[in-house]
Order: sequence, then C-alpha cells, then structure tokens
Amino acid sequence: MSVDQEAGTRQGVEVAREAGRRRTFAVISHPDAGKSTLTEALALHASAISSAGAVHGKGDRKGVTSDWMQMEQERGISITSAALRIDYDDRVLNLLDTPGHADFSEDTYRVLSAVDCAIMLLDSAKGLEPQTLKLFDVCRARRMPVITFVNKWDRPGREPLELLDEIEQRIGLRPTPLNWPVGIAGDFRGLIDRASGTYTKMTRTPGGASKAVERVLSDEEAARVEGAEWERAVEEIELLEALGADYDEASFLAGESSPVLFGAALPNFGVGHLLETVVGLAPAPAAKADEKDEPRPVAAPFSGQVFKMQANMDKNHRDRMAFVRISSGRFDRGMVLTHAATGRPFATKYTQAVFGADRSTIDAAYPGDVIALVNAQALAVGDTLYDGPRVVFPAIPSFAPEHFVVARALDAGKYKQFQRGIAQLDAEGVVQVLSSDVRGEQAPVLAAVGPLQFDVVRARMEQEFRSPIETSPLDYSVARRTDAESAPALHALSGAEVLKRRGDGELLVLVHNKWRLRVIERDHPELFMEPLLAGGVDEG
Ligand code: GDP
Repeated sequence: MSVDQEAGTRQGVEVAREAGRRRTFAVISHPDAGKSTLTEALALHASAISSAGAVHGKGDRKGVTSDWMQMEQERGISITSAALRIDYDDRVLNLLDTPGHADFSEDTYRVLSAVDCAIMLLDSAKGLEPQTLKLFDVCRARRMPVITFVNKWDRPGREPLELLDEIEQRIGLRPTPLNWPVGIAGDFRGLIDRASGTYTKMTRTPGGASKAVERVLSDEEAARVEGAEWERAVEEIELLEALGADYDEASFLAGESSPVLFGAALPNFGVGHLLETVVGLAPAPAAKADEKDEPRPVAAPFSGQVFKMQANMDKNHRDRMAFVRISSGRFDRGMVLTHAATGRPFATKYTQAVFGADRSTIDAAYPGDVIALVNAQALAVGDTLYDGPRVVFPAIPSFAPEHFVVARALDAGKYKQFQRGIAQLDAEGVVQVLSSDVRGEQAPVLAAVGPLQFDVVRARMEQEFRSPIETSPLDYSVARRTDAESAPALHALSGAEVLKRRGDGELLVLVHNKWRLRVIERDHPELFMEPLLAGGVDEG
C-alpha cells in the first residue's frame, strides 16, 4: 500500500483527527523571565494538575531517580527535560521543556526542532534578552510561528509600545497585539481583547496561586473605574489600528509576524488567553519533509525523529532513553519499528510517555506527541524510526559551539574506555567532538553551546565508561565552517585553529572571539568561513 492509500484507511482517518487535536510547542525565554511559573499556570489553567508546583523540577520532584538527580539538586536546575501533556477542552497540548539558564545546551536548541510553534516569553521590565535572542534565531531559521507573551505586567516595567518597537527593530518580527493592558506595568488593571473589544478586569486572589478573579466590564463601567488608564489604553489601541498592527494568519505561520499577549504568569493574569491562542492559532502537526524534500503526510504509517538522548535516568538500569517526536501515524506500544540509519528493527515494548516528572507507560500516541524509548543504545539524535514505507528525515543541524575544552584520560591505562566513551557521547550528541592531526586522538577537543555539557561528559566518563577525564578550556568562543582549501591558511593565523568535526567530517575553524573573527574576515576575504547554522545562530 502506498503512503497515500494508507492515509485513506480507517486508521489514517483516526490519525489525521488525532493530529488535528494536537499542538506541540515550547517556551523560549531568558532565565527568570518566568518559564516555570508560566508552565505551571498553563497547566493549572487547563486543570491538568490540581495545584501549581507539581509540574516542574523546581517544586517537589518525584518519580525518576537518576544519577543526574544529585547534580540537579546541587545546582537547582532541571536536566531531565520532559514533555508535558496538557489536556484542554478537546485538545492535547504537548509542551516540550527547553532547559533554561545554566544548563543551556544543544538539547535546548534541538527541542525546537521537535515543535510546531514557540512562545517567546519576555519579562516586561527587560524585553529581549540574550538567551531569548539565541533561541529566537533557531525559530527564525526554521520559519517557525512565534507567539509572544509579555510577562510580569504586575511589576514595574517598560512601556508596551516601546516593547513592541524593540521586537520589530531588533529581530524584525512584526508584533500584532491580541490584547492590550490597562494600567502601566506595575499597576495592572486588566486586559482589553482587541478582537472583541471586551475589557476584563483582574483581581489578585490571595496568595496568587489559584486562578485570578476576572470580571468583564462594559466600556462605560471601565471608563468610570479605571479613569485615565482606560483612556490611555483606548488611545494606544487606536494607534495600533492606525499602524495596521492586526493579527495576520499568513505572516504568523511564516514566522514573520507574532501575536503578542500581555499578562502575568504568577497571579495567573492573561494565561487563559494565551492558552486559547495556542489552541486557536498555533498550527497542528503537518506533513514533515524527508531528506528528499518529499512530505510524509501525518496520516501515513508511523514515523518519528529522535531529538534528544538521555542516559542513566534510572540507576538500576543503565539504560539510554531516546525522546522521539512523532511525525506521522499511530504509535502502539510494542510495535516493531525500523531504525532508518541501520535498517535494523527496533522493539518498543517499554515505551513511555512523558508527563511532568513522572514517566508513565503509554499505549498509543499520535503525531505531535513525544514518546520516550528505553534501551535506545543504538539510536542517536536526529535518527528516524518508521513503520511501513521507508523514510529518512534530514539531520537536525549541529549548532554553533561557543565553548571548547581539550579532554584527556586521567589514567593512560584506560585509553580504550576513554576512546569508547568519547565516541559514544559524540554519537549521542552530548557534545561535538573535534580532532586534528596536530592534537592527536589522545586529546580531542570537545565543543558545546553550553558549559554544562562538559559536566555531563565528565560525570558519564567517570561513572559509565570508567575513564575519568580532565578537561582544560581553550581560548576560543566562535566557530565557523571552512573548507580544505582555506584550512591551512586559517590554521596558520594567530587566534585561530582548524579542526575536523568527527560526527560529520566538517572542517571548523575556531577563533578566539568575534572581534578577532572580524579582523580575519576583513584581512582575508579570500578565505572561506561561513556560519554553522543557516539563519545565523552564532552571529553574536
Ligand atoms: P524561569 O527561570 O524562567 O523558569 O523563571 P521562574 O518561573 O522561576 O520565575 C522567576 C521569578 O519571577 C520567580 O521568583 C517568579 O515567582 C517570578 N515571576 C514569574 N512570573 C511572574 C509574574 O507574572 N509576576 C511577578 N511579579 N513575578 C513573576
């Protein structure tokens, strides 16, 4: 049966319906903008959980025990990133965790390859911050739809129009506010829904942990109660209309404009509107293009791509877990899939769905869902698994590393274990491994987008591969792709070094910093250097 024929069967119809109910998204934000708070508020609002605090790592964490737990507790961060399923009305929202702050790593970027939409979360006092910009660059490279949520409006912050201007000027995303705040940041009175003109006044509930009290006021009432603040909001909305800053579906889906919502996650103001926006505007899973750029319809037989690998979540089983985003078909636990890279069968008896800190066993999943496959030693990030007609999805791009260390085995007698461990961590995509004739195989260079990736390597080399390592930092912070022709000349320059990436054989030139890079570019325009990810994640 062809892919199209399959799509017409009863199961195909069911799969298409289930895919249509799903919205798979992630939140991109800078540390402390309120991602954890918003995640809890969204789940709370959707009544997926009974009380805020039970969702994320920052509250009580139960369930998974892992070698990482201790590291997580010590650092107060979440390494075991997960997908949170939120049932809302007739919809299924899959919120994929993008680990934030100190644990910023390639995983953070890769999660974005597995979602259909992103919520760009801004702190009203800070606007666009460095980490938000980095993550946004990945969204832009993928032309992903982005919904903007301006958070913490209950605290003193910036002018709403100024924030919109910053979004437009700095990242070229045209903001189209869906609601507008009454009251300046820090004096949050309520929100006007631009589509309906309805004003909802908000009142904090004691403790702020439960849903805010919302009351719809008529225009006359609002004018009386809010006075000058109301007048000002009405004037600003008129200005928006004059500027043509209205929601536009085509440009939103193309990643060119962004619906903007104001609110405050902590007291749960405006979170419901965000939830409705995700359900109403974010795209449902659609056909994914394969390596040959041919789309695999969602109703075709099962296909999915590994976007994250995680090891040692359970101390008793030194297992390796692969997180797979389903692209097409229905997944039934126990089905035997084909691993595209090797052509070998892959049994899925112990598949798990991921829900908060708990892992629960699932029986069926659909496009847009994330499944976690255990015993996934054979899999690597970017790998395709399928059922029925063969499909291979394009590799997930390797991101531009910014941190580099030289790794050496502490115990020279453990050289074999050292090599095996480094090769395995490279295959899993924990770090990128670079080498050169000059440095030799004993001293590979490890490259990462976040330094925490090195901690993971050190811990796993010691505990899992029994070859403790020492790492010494290298004084480089920028990488560019180069070619065999330009490599010798670049290598000879001061503040630059050429290495080969083992994973894909790509030649990379590492440069001291971006100023040095500019000087090299200026003085040697004949030498080939290009950014590592189209869209320029590493433009600095
Ligand atoms: P994350 O690092 O992005 O996950 O941020 P958190 O969710 O941990 O929030 C960082 C801090 O900001 C915490 O102290 C939150 O209580 C606070 N916060 C988050 N959202 C809001 C909000 O809407 N209003 C106020 N006043 N504080 C908030």
